[in-house]
Amino acid sequence: MKYISSSTSPQNQSTTMKSSKQRKLTTNKHSQKRRLMGWGKLVTSGLFLQLLLMASPSWGQEEKDKYTYSELLNDIDAGKVTQVEIDPRLQKATVTLENQEKTEEVPLFKQNPELIDRLKANDVKIDYNPSPDNSAMVRLMLQIPIIFLILIIVIAIVRRSANMSGQAMSFSKSRAKFQMEPKTGISFTDVAGIDEAKEELQEVVTFLKESEKFTAIGAKIPKGVLLIGPPGTGKTLLAKAVAGEAGVPFFSISGSEFVEMFVGVGASRVRDLFKKAKENAPCLIFIDEIDAVGRQRGVGYGGGNDEREQTLNQLLTEMDGFEGNTGIIVVAATNRPDVLDKALMRPGRFDRQVMVDYPDLKGRQGILEVHARDKKVDEEVSLEAIARRTPGFTGADLSNLLNEAAIFTARRRKEAITMEEINDAIDRVVAGMEGTPLVDSKSKRLIAYHEIGHALVATVITGHDPVEKVTLIPRGQAKGLTWFTPDEDSGLVTRNQLLARIAGLLGGRAAEEVIFGEDEVTTGAGNDIEKVTYLARQMVTRFGMSELGLLALEEDEQDNYAAFDEIATQIDTQINVIVEKCHQKAQTIIRENRAMVDRLVDILIDQETIEGDEFRQLLEKYKEPVDSAGPELCKSV
Ligand code: ADP
Ligand code: MG
Ligand code: ZN
Repeated sequence: MKYISSSTSPQNQSTTMKSSKQRKLTTNKHSQKRRLMGWGKLVTSGLFLQLLLMASPSWGQEEKDKYTYSELLNDIDAGKVTQVEIDPRLQKATVTLENQEKTEEVPLFKQNPELIDRLKANDVKIDYNPSPDNSAMVRLMLQIPIIFLILIIVIAIVRRSANMSGQAMSFSKSRAKFQMEPKTGISFTDVAGIDEAKEELQEVVTFLKESEKFTAIGAKIPKGVLLIGPPGTGKTLLAKAVAGEAGVPFFSISGSEFVEMFVGVGASRVRDLFKKAKENAPCLIFIDEIDAVGRQRGVGYGGGNDEREQTLNQLLTEMDGFEGNTGIIVVAATNRPDVLDKALMRPGRFDRQVMVDYPDLKGRQGILEVHARDKKVDEEVSLEAIARRTPGFTGADLSNLLNEAAIFTARRRKEAITMEEINDAIDRVVAGMEGTPLVDSKSKRLIAYHEIGHALVATVITGHDPVEKVTLIPRGQAKGLTWFTPDEDSGLVTRNQLLARIAGLLGGRAAEEVIFGEDEVTTGAGNDIEKVTYLARQMVTRFGMSELGLLALEEDEQDNYAAFDEIATQIDTQINVIVEKCHQKAQTIIRENRAMVDRLVDILIDQETIEGDEFRQLLEKYKEPVDSAGPELCKSV
């Protein structure tokens, strides 16, 4: 507003514009923003003025004017003119004639020496009165929106390219989106139930605390640790505890903050983050939800995302860039390790991976203890009993549970949390969880038999990988799981090993059949059967391990349908033979160890998890005298 009305000539106006435009390009983002807002006002006020001008009656006045220059000169000479107002901008004179109300308007030339001379000669009053130039202003105003638009585009381009070439630091620095906590105030005693992860990270604490010790002997300190685990299991907490234990600052940023940004901003944030971290070394950098940036490059929605890739590349560059001994350790967290770009796991990057899993019974009890510390809990409340009732709960769920209970207690105006509040809180938390945890005792028992079936058959039979862990803690789709430690150098697999694997896979279903009867078997074995079929088919069609002999019977060679049909039938028969034999074997093992199976199931239901070594010890302890299962399996098929 002010800007328009204060200018007196078109030349002035355009130069002001130009210089402010130049300034705009060189100024920083903040003032750019302010200026843009100013421009917005300018445009609206410009448009407003324009409307006013159009509506004003003086518009288009020139046409009706017939008073000429020569007439004016004559009138001056004749002494009829009393006053002349000269407007140099519009190049016109407003003439006041003697005895006349109305003034006349006369177009002038650029220079009017003759007129001035005559006016002086005739002693006419001259007013020099430059008026605002409507037409020039209107033209200008029409241009402003266009100029404004161009400016926006130019700014966008400049900003983008500046960011890309790394000159944007001064722009975005003040808006850096990472957090820094000089002291997290969290120690390992605040973290429970994930002891293995804690142990592994204990080492990281030592690296941060006493990095000189390692550098003195030339040892390279690892740079990156990847925490893998479902949400709420305590990954963030653990990272904070590491920083807390080591007494170093905690820098954190979330991968999800990088997405949906202008190209280059994520990368510049990563750069800022590492720069700040280096200034504060030793320190810990925590990157949460790294999968949001660390997804495999070139895949995903719409075939890749520039911004994400740039951010990831910047992250990789930074991690490669700093020496292992600068005292910076990067801890990242994800619950989707499967989608991560392999480049992230290379040596010198996140080469250490730590699993942070659902807590087991003891773990849950430990977590409850941690969170009960600062709450008033009635003596009658047994944390162990709560832990027993909450399989599948994460640390976050448990913390939430106790908090809900505390809220109930306060609302009921009680002194301390009692079992009543705990029960209500469990109901509430369970209702808010996805997937119901395994509290139903009947299906829990069935699943326990199924898993023990796998573990027992696999352990009794020769040639099977050792059991690592049997667990009833649900994970994803599976309600229970039996893990095996794969043989280290299993390049070649024998026929006996394959048969043992098939029998082990059928152990779950076999246990269901033996214990609950054929009619009570469940869909829980679906996945097992799929794997069994695949293995058995491979034995027949690829490895020459059936009566069909040493033939590679690739099924996609379908030139001859008749022959293929016949072979296909034979293949199926052979697969059946193998699977049935293994099935029989598995059933036999379960039957012969029936009493032991029951005991193991009780233990599993009680503990939820049995580690491999413990499982083998229990087997030894409860071993029954009859033990015919064993190495002759291979001969029987
Ligand atoms: P994640 O980062 O794995 O999603 P968080 O670390 O954010 O999980 O956990 C959220 C909250 O849940 C923590 O602040 C803490 O109160 C509680 N919590 C989670 N896991 C644990 C644990 N293992 N021990 C104690 N508290 C835990
Ligand atoms: Mg977290
Ligand atoms: Zn199974």
